[in-house]
Amino acid sequence: MDACTPHAHHHQPSRRSFLLGAAAVTAGLAGAAALGGTASAQGLMAQQSNWRFCTKCYTMFYWGYPTDGVCPAGGAHAAQGFNFTLPYDVPETPTAQAKWRFCTKCFAMYYWGYPTDGRCPSGGAHSAQGFNFVLPHDVPETPTAQAKWRFCTKCFVMFYWGYPTNGRCAAGSAHSAQGYDFVLPHF
Ligand SMILES: [Zn+2]
Ligand SMILES: [Zn+2]
Ligand SMILES: [Zn+2]
Repeated sequence: MDACTPHAHHHQPSRRSFLLGAAAVTAGLAGAAALGGTASAQGLMAQQSNWRFCTKCYTMFYWGYPTDGVCPAGGAHAAQGFNFTLPYDVPETPTAQAKWRFCTKCFAMYYWGYPTDGRCPSGGAHSAQGFNFVLPHDVPETPTAQAKWRFCTKCFVMFYWGYPTNGRCAAGSAHSAQGYDFVLPHF
């Protein structure tokens, strides 16, 4: 017999297996890391799905775990709308900013490029883990990429700035937008 195991079919280069692999890396499974590396070597963009808008605080958060983190509006985040698929570990460009990270405490996407790490609804600052996301900004909105995502200068998360109000910020009151207009890809 050959070395075929019940797991072998997971190595088929299907989109589903790749996305599952990407989620597994964030969960800390080292074996899945090579999958993302292979995708990069083949010129495919490494990307992770299951990023969602929270209807309570307007933050972009990771929805791929059994629980949904900590929301500054109380309880866990609550997903609504698009399933975003965000690129990581690719070169930064004039229209794509690196150093966006997952916070392991509250599950938010936040900017990790300053000496401090903002304000986390779990208490203290955010705590980065996993991929280095490189997020597109100041490009045209399309049917599969939503504009009006912004950096909050108070808590450092990525939040949706397209409503008359600006959600709930861990630093108090609503988020406060600054900088680029991010245009984030989704299914
Ligand atoms: Zn929330
Ligand atoms: Zn946090
Ligand atoms: Zn904020």
